[in-house]
Amino acid sequence: MSSPVSAPVEAAVPADVLKPDHGARSRHFIFSDFHEDLRESIGAFVTKELQPHAEEWEETTFPDWVFRRMGELGFLGLSYPEQYGGQGGDYFCNLVLAEELTKSDSGGLNMGVAVHTDMATPPIFLFGTEEQKQEYLVPSIKGQKISSLGITEPDAGSDVSAIKTRAVRQPDGDYVINGAKTYITNGHRSDYIVLVTKTDPDAGVGGFTLFLVDMDAPGVVREQRLQKLGMHASDTALLAFQDVRVPATAVLGEVGKGFYHIMWELQGERLIGAAGCVAGAQRAFDKTLRYAMERKAFGRQIGKFQVTRHKFAEMATKMESARQMVYATAWRFANGEYPVREISMAKLHAARIAVEVADECIQIHGGAGYMKEYGIERAWRDLRLNRIGAGTDEIMLDVIGRSYGL
Ligand SMILES: Cc1cc2nc3c(=O)[nH]c(=O)nc-3n(C[C@H](O)[C@H](O)[C@H](O)COP(=O)(O)OP(=O)(O)OC[C@H]3O[C@@H](n4cnc5c(N)ncnc54)[C@H](O)[C@@H]3O)c2cc1C
Repeated sequence: MSSPVSAPVEAAVPADVLKPDHGARSRHFIFSDFHEDLRESIGAFVTKELQPHAEEWEETTFPDWVFRRMGELGFLGLSYPEQYGGQGGDYFCNLVLAEELTKSDSGGLNMGVAVHTDMATPPIFLFGTEEQKQEYLVPSIKGQKISSLGITEPDAGSDVSAIKTRAVRQPDGDYVINGAKTYITNGHRSDYIVLVTKTDPDAGVGGFTLFLVDMDAPGVVREQRLQKLGMHASDTALLAFQDVRVPATAVLGEVGKGFYHIMWELQGERLIGAAGCVAGAQRAFDKTLRYAMERKAFGRQIGKFQVTRHKFAEMATKMESARQMVYATAWRFANGEYPVREISMAKLHAARIAVEVADECIQIHGGAGYMKEYGIERAWRDLRLNRIGAGTDEIMLDVIGRSYGL
């Protein structure tokens, strides 16, 4: 017997609506048809021109032509104005890029590109002079100049205020820079670096200044090519700056405001990283789902064991919660808010769940998950960085906690 409440509803709603629509192509409200077309074209490019090289680039790091090709296709300046060679799109275009790049199956490549599009070039666009935009931003959007970002030092990572790289003003107005930076993505290939320095070590956070430094300037030494757990397709450098002389026009933004400039930069870096985490986790999930349908044990598809079904349900729920956080926060960011607390939450949550999902995906694959040929172990190794890079889990928790006045 139907209940008196459900009967009129059933009568009012067409029968097919009552069936759960799991196959619907879901699109969040932040995305339009334009974004979906962009998604398709980036996805097709990544699948055809990048993904086939994923394994090879683990050994060699990805080649520089990736930047040039992406520049030709307009993918390196999606949200920059047309006057600088950009596509004039909104911030959500950058999310689409970060998500679609995960189809490369190469976290190292995705990170190298994201450093360029969402970490090193945004401060040039926001704080740079017109001359700096012409000299660095325009060729970066074309893929003709490759960028890197230098914050971390051998003795200072989480504690950015403890960096030691010094830029000292000379009587003729130039600056001379001395110091070291480490773990610098694109450090070996980049044409220039957005460098965080101290111009006044006694002024606390008011003593920081950013510089645009050409990597072929005398005194810039690209030292070790660092070996890592994952992200093998990216190059990671230890850099030294030995009496590097730059003109005053190399100052990016305002002298003494560098700390605030770089804290702003980190927000975009964390949000785009969070989007990449969710998409990277989804990619591992999708592959694992296919595997769970094919692989049989005890006469059944392994996905049909209730325990495995529940694992997928847990993973999907985690990914959906992280995705909604990322999209809601991106919407606020794109609409002019500066939601540092929520960006920190999204980054923390997305990085954590991505590692959990990748780990579970290895488990569901069994021994195959441990083998290189399935690419799941690489996803785990690559995604693991996200709990450290761009601010560790602990630092995210601290930012969130402090935002409540604690
Ligand atoms: C592959 C890779 C690529 C990178 N690319 C770049 C790049 O392109 N440019 C760049 O500038 N940097 C880059 N980084 C650096 C990265 O951002 C730092 O590694 C990260 O910020 C952590 O700093 P750290 O390694 O010095 O760790 P530390 O600061 O030494 O931290 C060590 C541990 O102590 C904990 N800790 C520190 N302070 C606190 C605190 N106050 N409360 C609680 N716990 C704390 C940390 O959470 C961590 O667990 C990269 C790193 C890697 C691994």
